[in-house]
Amino acid sequence: MHEFSIARSIAHQLAEVAQEHQAKLLSATVAIGPLSTVVPELLREAWPYVIKGTDLEGAALHIERVPVRARCNECGATTEGYDPFVKCRECGSLNLSIESGFELQILSAELADSAEEAGNS
Ligand SMILES: [Zn+2]
Repeated sequence: MHEFSIARSIAHQLAEVAQEHQAKLLSATVAIGPLSTVVPELLREAWPYVIKGTDLEGAALHIERVPVRARCNECGATTEGYDPFVKCRECGSLNLSIESGFELQILSAELADSAEEAGNS
């Protein structure tokens, strides 16, 4: 269950953001794609254990699921889905380029004093 180490890594980044602003983290939102190998339910379960006893204790973790999006190299159509798929929805081709679905990123962090975008930088 590698969600614990991922939760730790997320907590570490959020702790830095909170420290930078000298504010308490209230909640954070992370985007998770189906191809990221992270199971959102497990990450959600790991979160309270990881932040227990830290400055982040009590902060909520919101998980936003991102669909897999693939572009067909035959007909150009885009197919989206939350479950794995291998074929173009339009023409059935297997010749697809994955455009998104690997996401594992912090979208935003809400701090006690002000809402602050964590950004991708
Ligand atoms: Zn196609």
